[in-house]
Amino acid sequence: MPTPQQRTRIKDLLTANQPGSPNPDDAVVVKGWVKTVRSSGGVAFVQINDGSTLADLQLVVAADCPDFPLVGQLTTGCSISADGLLQESPGRGQRYEIHTRRLELLGGADPEEYPLQKKRHTLEFLRELAHLRPRTNTFGAVARVRNAMAFGIHQFFQQRGFLYIQTPIITASDAEGAGAMFRATTLDLNRLPTQDGQVDNSVDFFGRPAFLTVSGQLEAEIFAQAMSDVYTFGPTFRAENSNTSRHLAEFWMVEPEVAFCDLDGLAQLAEDFLRSIFAHVLATCPDDLAFFNRFYDRELIATLESIVAADFERMTYTEAVNLLQSSGETFQFPAQWGSDLQSEHERYLTENKVGRPVIVTDYPSSIKAFYMRVNDDDPDGRQTVRAMDVLVPRIGEIIGGSQREERLDVLQSRMAAAGLDDAPYWWYLDLRRYGTAPHAGFGLGFERTVQFATGMQNIRDIIAFPRTPRNAEF
Ligand code: ATP
Ligand code: MN
Repeated sequence: MPTPQQRTRIKDLLTANQPGSPNPDDAVVVKGWVKTVRSSGGVAFVQINDGSTLADLQLVVAADCPDFPLVGQLTTGCSISADGLLQESPGRGQRYEIHTRRLELLGGADPEEYPLQKKRHTLEFLRELAHLRPRTNTFGAVARVRNAMAFGIHQFFQQRGFLYIQTPIITASDAEGAGAMFRATTLDLNRLPTQDGQVDNSVDFFGRPAFLTVSGQLEAEIFAQAMSDVYTFGPTFRAENSNTSRHLAEFWMVEPEVAFCDLDGLAQLAEDFLRSIFAHVLATCPDDLAFFNRFYDRELIATLESIVAADFERMTYTEAVNLLQSSGETFQFPAQWGSDLQSEHERYLTENKVGRPVIVTDYPSSIKAFYMRVNDDDPDGRQTVRAMDVLVPRIGEIIGGSQREERLDVLQSRMAAAGLDDAPYWWYLDLRRYGTAPHAGFGLGFERTVQFATGMQNIRDIIAFPRTPRNAEF
């Protein structure tokens, strides 16, 4: 593949002899950043990387190259351009190398100051260097897997005829009380306008309080009630103060919303979807996954392959609570009908009890959002809703979803019970007044999914520039 600048990408060089790639003896131009430089017997070997693939390219610079003296100036982190002949490599570790004819130093990197040295750095240290960490093997691999998964997600929905829609980032409604929201305002916080002792929101930019969205669901429902099958894929924000390895204040969510679909149909969609995107990443990122498997999680590829191959387990919330109570395990918080499943419970179910992903359905209505469809009371007179969570080993909840309440009267009484005022939801209620139809949808946390596919421990290493409590550098 030609690049815009007529250089050849390292990825294409290292797959020489394949369609679209150069062949041995071809003259090529390559550009990238230097990883290491070493010399032996009057010949210099320069390893460079351009991000197109995990592997570095070896440049061989012989003493008779007119730019040989430049080698002394090359240090880890500098950028260079090289012109040379592609050759099969006699050395170990690479199939091809470049026999360099011309070499140009584009930008130096003072070795006294450049913070990324040859040794392995901790992930914590690299988080302080989010502007340079994409140059490391780990973060290059995360970026490529993330890109492949985003493409796989669009491909899955596009092949099934779903319409990709964009929902607003600034919203005046609290989508679901899903989590604390960030306020979006142009008011001068040092001189707040007041009216009767209260902040006067009528003079704020939108004439009312506005927030960064926690979910595109409510707007996606509007489009599902017209286009039938839709999905969003965009940023969402939660001002929750949860400093865990699975929570970000800004993360990306994929939210399909499907008309004429019930919870069973939705659970099947979620299962097909997860298996398809993991199959996609296995097929398109073998080198990066092998790297993660080697350095981060020895079980990674086996786990992903087993998920692609096996059916997910299904159980109701009530069955899950019974299983937890009879497990003989001691949990920090004992499982109790009516309380939300803790992450220790979720992990026990998926890791110990069934050893593969589990879809838990029909949660108590008291712990779930107002828009989830109410079931008939169970034999013990308890009320549940048609909610589902998909739990996977190591991460716990990766998807949360539900069949939506399409009956106007039931929805209104649930809103009243939740203490929600009807007025701001007039348009949401209109969908139940005019041509209401059964529908269902879920939200997949994109970073948690990439975290699962890479075996990385901390979600801060999955998004390029993590936003977490007290941290918004870069
Ligand atoms: P949790 O209980 O883990 O906080 P949640 O119940 O708040 O999740 P939902 O509101 O159902 O999650 O959101 C849908 C999906 O978005 C979740 O299944 C998860 O994958 C992802 N998600 C939710 N909150 C966060 C967050 N703060 N950071 C990253 N991903 C998140
Ligand atoms: Mn949450």
